[in-house]
Amino acid sequence: MPQMYDRVALVGLGLIASSMFWAMKRAGLAKEVTGFARSAETREVAREIGLCDVVYDDIHDAVRDADLVVLCVPVGVMGKVMEQIAGSLKPGATVTDVGSVKGDVINNVMPHLPDGVHFIAGHPLAGTEHSGPRSGFAELFDNRWCLLVPPEGSDPEAIARLRSFWEGLGANVEEMDADHHDLVLAVTSHAPHLIAYTMVGVADDLRRVTDGEVIKYSAAGFRDFTRIAASDPTMWRDVFLTNKEATLEILGRFTEELFALQRAIRQGDGDHLFDYFTRTRAIRRGIIEAGQDTDAPDFGRSPGRKT
Ligand code: NAP
Repeated sequence: MPQMYDRVALVGLGLIASSMFWAMKRAGLAKEVTGFARSAETREVAREIGLCDVVYDDIHDAVRDADLVVLCVPVGVMGKVMEQIAGSLKPGATVTDVGSVKGDVINNVMPHLPDGVHFIAGHPLAGTEHSGPRSGFAELFDNRWCLLVPPEGSDPEAIARLRSFWEGLGANVEEMDADHHDLVLAVTSHAPHLIAYTMVGVADDLRRVTDGEVIKYSAAGFRDFTRIAASDPTMWRDVFLTNKEATLEILGRFTEELFALQRAIRQGDGDHLFDYFTRTRAIRRGIIEAGQDTDAPDFGRSPGRKT
């Protein structure tokens, strides 16, 4: 795999950035990788574990000579970070991000983009419930999708280069527009996370009544919810604040379906329940056939499980 960029800067050094670093090293995708994180503690851990070739205390030093700058911070601060680094970017450089919401990020980043610098939004559909600089691993993106969302008028060469870069990290790449991305992700990721948070919250309330039995006898369904509901609170707060419309649209549909199932249970309508569960089972098979999960029943306990 040829070197895609001489110098790559990672801004934010958590799960996604650290996984990108190890995957870049595995494939030899960059000559030098620089890094920056806002807290001295994260920068210290990064130096200790060899995450990035150089970790800078100053964000401007980290991005100054970079050919590719990857914003790996929560969605809610992408615009602010872009504003901060704008004056230090190299002409001809590409800036991308890995945020889970695209419309809001593009709207907040584009006003600060200097002339002669490209911005191509991105989102790897890979993650775990762990966060921080120690949580990354090189295989995170293998055979997962990375969606690129180039704003209108983006340079085709810059897009092609970023696509090859993500392919080098192990991902399959597709392009999408921002609204479509945000709606698809509301269905596949954002609403399910909210439902998991809710279910675990309900069980937590109930725990007081059942005296710890919810945890003690925790079965597969609930355990899977707790794994998802252990995801980073900052990241998920920002996702719901920034993908408001699409998430509310999907939650509205979800509520309607839930009422229909509630009615079927109340009325003892077994046919309705059976047909519904037969249809949903086929979706699970489709995901396995598409290579996006395995049939292995690990209930989220294996290390590095991907959401
Ligand atoms: P993470 O492990 O929690 O790391 C987040 C990084 O952002 C840390 O280095 C943190 O700095 C920094 N940061 C947090 N708040 C900040 C602020 N207000 N200003 C500047 N820097 C700040 O997060 P992650 O899972 O890598 O997520 C990073 C991005 O990837 C998010 O936009 C998320 O939506 C997206 N994403 C996540 C997943 C997933 O499953 N986790 C999957 C796909 C995409 P400190 O360490 O110094 O606090």
